Amino acid sequence: MRERKMRREFLPKLFIIKISNKCNMRCAYCYSKRSNKELSEGALEHIAELIASWIRKRKLKKVKIGFLGGEPLLDRDKIEFIITKLNSIINKNEKVIEYAIQTNGTIITKEIIEWIKERKIKIGISLDGPKEINDAARKLVDGEGSYELVRKNIRKLIEAEIEPKIITVINKNNWNKVREVINNFIELGIMEFRLNPILPVNSEAKKLEITPEQYYQAMKEAVETLIELRMKGIKTIERTMLSYISMLKGKTNNICLRKPCGAGIDMLVFNNDEAVYPCDMIIREEFRIAWINEISDLSELERSRTIVKLVNNGEKISEECRNCIYAAYCNGGCLARKILEKKEMDEISEWHCEFMQKYINYLLTI
Ligand code: SF4
Ligand code: SF4
Repeated sequence: MRERKMRREFLPKLFIIKISNKCNMRCAYCYSKRSNKELSEGALEHIAELIASWIRKRKLKKVKIGFLGGEPLLDRDKIEFIITKLNSIINKNEKVIEYAIQTNGTIITKEIIEWIKERKIKIGISLDGPKEINDAARKLVDGEGSYELVRKNIRKLIEAEIEPKIITVINKNNWNKVREVINNFIELGIMEFRLNPILPVNSEAKKLEITPEQYYQAMKEAVETLIELRMKGIKTIERTMLSYISMLKGKTNNICLRKPCGAGIDMLVFNNDEAVYPCDMIIREEFRIAWINEISDLSELERSRTIVKLVNNGEKISEECRNCIYAAYCNGGCLARKILEKKEMDEISEWHCEFMQKYINYLLTI
């Protein structure tokens, strides 16, 4: 291992708030642990004060707050509570904070649409493709697939001039049907989406796991489909590809592609167990940064054992990476994946290397 000449500054500008793990769905690859714990109003009030004070002290111009669950729209009263609290501290007209909700898209009513519009909340919906593909893994508690409900709700959102973005989990059911998946999104009126690889977070997810070669084939088919659509005058955006292209140009605003990734450095997660973690994919005791009620200012977290470890990790470079021609572009891969692969933070993930090298080679040829 040798030192890399770079040090990232602890400067979180993305805050994920997981109010509870309540959900009306039971997706096969869900990574949220079932629990009844939820953030109390006291904790939400404290989170709002911590974020507001951080924005002021660091003179931040743009901060993002994302609400994740479970299904966050089941906790809409608490989301409203925190937005109201933040607006009362930070002048609403300053527009420093951008709010986003990642929802399963099944409970979007007319009233919720008005509420989203008024607060200019960005909406991300999870959908894995057409009915047969999506419903194989994404089911409601009664066992029915979510597709029909989500399809109707996307229509309602688009009619209300809200453009939802889609997050798709590429897994065993859809990795070789990406053209079909994208064409389905176009039919639904979706023009922007992100294709993420499944992480083997539990035994069900492991059954749907894909190889790096399969994810590469999926991403290649996505690029080919986007080009075909562009030739027909249809402009669509696949966010993972755009992030990789920005990375090749030497800049990326994608948290996961920064070097090292933004977990705990650019992003903090306020979790429903009332503790702070570096990433919503790493909710583990050994990565707990602090209990929310013990923090009086976010700057204190910089000295925590977890943050010091994450920042220092960016200064180390393994023998494999030192001799790798892709090292200038590569961030060493996703920490959450390494943890699942039982690797140390500074070890490489062969899954990541294989996909990254193939995909970069391909992008450089188009
Ligand atoms: S592709 Fe693998 S070996 Fe190469 S720099 Fe990235 S993590 Fe290191
Ligand atoms: S741990 Fe993985 S998912 Fe989390 S920020 Fe890093 S790369 Fe992204």
